[in-house]
This record gives sequence, structure tokens and C-alpha cells, in this order.
Amino acid sequence: MAQDAIENLAPYAASAALSRGRQYTEEEDSRRHLYQRDCDRIIHAAAFRCLEGKAQVMVNHVAGSFRTRLTHSMEVARLSRALARTLRLNEDLAEAIALAHDLGHTPFSHPGEDALDRCMKDYGGFEHNVQSLRVVDKLEHKYAQFRGLNLSFETRDGLLKRCARDIAENLGDVGARVLRGERATLEAQIVNLADHISYTNHDLDDGLRLGFLELAEVQELELFARAWQEASKLAPDLSRHCLLHETNRRMIDRMMNDLIVTTRTRIEKAAPDSLEAVRTQDEDLAGFSAEMRHALAPVTQLLHRRYYDHFELVRTREMAVRVIEGLFGSFMDCPKLLPGDLHERVQIKQEAHGDAGCARVAADYIASLSDRAILAEYRKVFGVPGIPEL
Ligand code: MG
Repeated sequence: MAQDAIENLAPYAASAALSRGRQYTEEEDSRRHLYQRDCDRIIHAAAFRCLEGKAQVMVNHVAGSFRTRLTHSMEVARLSRALARTLRLNEDLAEAIALAHDLGHTPFSHPGEDALDRCMKDYGGFEHNVQSLRVVDKLEHKYAQFRGLNLSFETRDGLLKRCARDIAENLGDVGARVLRGERATLEAQIVNLADHISYTNHDLDDGLRLGFLELAEVQELELFARAWQEASKLAPDLSRHCLLHETNRRMIDRMMNDLIVTTRTRIEKAAPDSLEAVRTQDEDLAGFSAEMRHALAPVTQLLHRRYYDHFELVRTREMAVRVIEGLFGSFMDCPKLLPGDLHERVQIKQEAHGDAGCARVAADYIASLSDRAILAEYRKVFGVPGIPEL
């Protein structure tokens, strides 16, 4: 039986049989179809393993069970599979995009990305979505026949949520889709929203458990308050830990249901009969209702005001800037400070692109490091005793 029939895919889903294929021709695997193989290649990538040591929000020297980029990516993958299954989309493609969506993140989360982008402002900038694509296309290097993981077009396309036109012009087939103003697959659209569901809920949970957010202020959020009230009725003397979890899962459930109902309604109205019909829509078909967007706005505002801008995270931001700017500047002044296995690459890139070539190798290296590894590098290059060990 054909894979699509086994998976009961909708006509607008991305079918492996109709894929635009891989960059380099390879013999396909008899046991796994295209997107299943993409998932396996991503999980076996060095950049995927490094996600364990990269902060989601809080740098991981804090003891406790707080989210990392790895656990976040796994949560997004599970939510994405559930959404894809319910909407009759391709679960494996959604999983592949979700697993790889944060591969391009720097150490120290968004403050690290902002710092590296400032370092790279004269050399084409730095953006984590574009870097995720760069990791799977160029930086992973372990196959004999090609650089990168040689993933399918649809997985690579799904990593590029958005990017500036001048960057898209240099991204070949995937960039061309952006330049034509076409939509991503529905699988990519739902991963983007699963990402939103995941970080909104786990950042509230982590923020409360860290004590950066107060329960009283979070209870003022309608989305949280309704779920908390429902959870409170389950048993008279639930621990705070249980209550928070029961609240969290109800919030995730409500957001998932809203997304499914809203997306289904939009699909019924637009009636796309193929993936190409999804790509040529004026707007994304996947989305939250106006009511949910209204409920989410104050959650996002609170998270920014009280969690992301908490003084402990402002300190992390300061450290990220000093460490990344310091290392980047040193590598530009003296490329030989980079690890020996990068020297040949620096030389090739410098000959082709001058300083911009060296800058890109330095940025790729810095972005690949975990929070712990970049601090170790900083200590080695500068010999500074005051930088904490993780
Ligand atoms: Mg994410």
C-alpha cells in the first residue's frame, strides 16, 4: 500500500511521494520514507546533541529541571506530531522540521543571538532560522558524498520561517520560495505554532518554579486562571507542583484545540486540493482564533516584563555580550585562535570573501558552542578568572 494511504494524508498534506527531493541524489531506503529518514539524520547530528547544553531561557547552570533547547525541541516535535495527525498532515515531516527548528541557536539563547548578529552586522548578519538551514545544508559534515545532511526540500524549506530578501537571494531553491511570496507547507506552519504553544507554557512553568514570576500575577491571566480553577477542583489538597502541572496541561490542551478548530475552519473555507494550493494562499491557513490571540497577548507581555527581563537574565545578557563580542573580536584579530581543524576553512573563506569569510567561520563556530563550552573558550582565550564555571 502507498505510504500516503497508510498515513491517511489529506490532499493538501506534503506527501513524501510528491517531494521535490534532496539536493544530492541518493538511493532511498526501503524501510523508511524520505521524511522519516530526515528525522533520523537530524537526531544523529552533532548540532542536535549540542542543544542539550544550550539555554532555552535560563542559562543551564541553575540546578533543577528547567527546559533546554533539546527538551524544548522534543516538546515541539510531540505537539507537532499530534497536530499533524489530527489535521491529516504528514507527521514525519512535521517532526523533522520541529526537531531541527532550533539547530541554529547560539549559546545564551536570544541575547547570544542578538550579540552575534551585532558582531556580524558588516558581514551579512546572523539569524537563527537561517543558521538552522546552514547547519543542515553545510556545517554538518560526516557523509562521504556531500556536505550537510542532504535533507528533503520540504524539511529545509520548513526551517526558513522568514528571512530578508537579500538573504533569501543567496539561499537557492528554499530562498526562491520566500522570494516568490509562497507559503510554507501546512506542516511547517503548525510547527511554528507548536513552538509558540510549547514556549509560552514552559516559560510560564519555569518562570514560576524559578520564583521569577509570582503566582498572583500569573493568576490575573485569563488563560492561566481558567485552567488553574479547573485544576483546583480535582482534589482538595493538591500540591503546588501538581496544581501547576494540571494547569499547564489544560492550557496546552486549550491552545491545541483552538489551533485545530481554527485551522480546520480555514482549510474548509479555502478548500486547497493540493500542497501547491496551500503555497499560493494569501495567508497561512494554520492559526489561532482571534479570541486565543487576545488571550495570549497579556501572557507574552508578562513573560517579557517579569521573566525575560528579570535581573538574573539581564545579567546573562550582559555576560553573553561580553563573551561573544570578546571571542568574535579575538578570532577576527587572530584567526589562528580558532580550533586547528577550522584553519583551512578560514583560509579558503578568506581567499574567497576577505574578512567576511573569516567572520562567517567565527560565527559558525561560536553559534555551535554550548553555554558551558563558550565560557570555557572565553577563559582559555582571555584567562579571565571571574567568569563562572558551569
Ligand atoms: Mg523554538
